[in-house]
Amino acid sequence: MKPVKPIILIFDDGYEDNYFHLMPLLKKHHVKAVIFVLADEPLYNNRWNMAEGEPEAALMSPEQIIECHQSGCVEIASHGISHRRLTKLTDDELAFEISATKRRLEEMTGDEVVSFAYPTVTARSVSQKPSPPQATVSALLRSQVQSGWQIT
Ligand SMILES: [Zn+2]
Repeated sequence: MKPVKPIILIFDDGYEDNYFHLMPLLKKHHVKAVIFVLADEPLYNNRWNMAEGEPEAALMSPEQIIECHQSGCVEIASHGISHRRLTKLTDDELAFEISATKRRLEEMTGDEVVSFAYPTVTARSVSQKPSPPQATVSALLRSQVQSGWQIT
């Protein structure tokens, strides 16, 4: 039965607490969610915003990402390689950021990655340069991502 008012639960960055706290809740309540993860294997914490005063938070390991995917209650989606600000990248860097993360996550999960969430989009960056910029849209289309999300 199709819900009258469907919602999509989305979580970005792939924090380890998604594995320890979110996944058990999803299983318990038979609910699905999309987790947008980063695909830079040496990246194990939120170093991109620790310099701005955010406390350190661990990211899921590749094994935890795979387990989330295999649970059947999580869609693993792309949030870029290392949470770089897409509006500051060259076209080649942008294409790499989007296509490489899709490819790495597909190799990791053995399944197609169809969604991408733009990392590090702030009100300021959106007002300075419309988001997603055409270069981002073009790179997404070339990588065959089917949906793009704007979350931070
Ligand atoms: Zn993020």
